[in-house]
Amino acid sequence: MTIYMTETYNAEETFEFGKKVGQICKPGTVISLVGDLGVGKTVFTQGVAQGLEITEPVNSPTFTILQEYEEGRLPFYHFDVYRIGDIEEMDEIGYEDCFYGEGVCLVEWANLIEELMPEHYYRITISKDLEKGFDYRRIEVEEI
Ligand code: ADP
Ligand code: MG
Repeated sequence: MTIYMTETYNAEETFEFGKKVGQICKPGTVISLVGDLGVGKTVFTQGVAQGLEITEPVNSPTFTILQEYEEGRLPFYHFDVYRIGDIEEMDEIGYEDCFYGEGVCLVEWANLIEELMPEHYYRITISKDLEKGFDYRRIEVEEI
């Protein structure tokens, strides 16, 4: 069910929306982040990190699948499963301790590991609409 929809017109607005999300995340919040390459998933994630009061730089953990940040208001687990070969790699990194722990999980490309997602999570989909401009983004929040 869609619970929120917003539109942004530059990267800063997407960052600020991510920050607001980060500020209201609770222990155990799991977010699936979906959208094409270059749509702004990392920008959004950097906002979430700031909202969690994380000061170290956050980038795409493309080659590591999981990046952990322990210094913020809550532990933050940033997954990017774009290059996952086998779903067993998720077991190897101990995803269950993250998904069912006290921190906040954000999973880029979670659609690739859909069967591992918990019963309840938020799916945030970022999309472009070139008719509305190159920097326009539509951001939809669904409660699953
Ligand atoms: P992804 O992680 O989805 O591959 P990035 O966050 O790395 O994408 O890159 C998004 C790019 O799009 C950045 O260069 C950013 O400056 C640009 N951009 C332009 N408009 C927006 C917007 N409204 N929201 C987010 N990023 C935007
Ligand atoms: Mg990225």
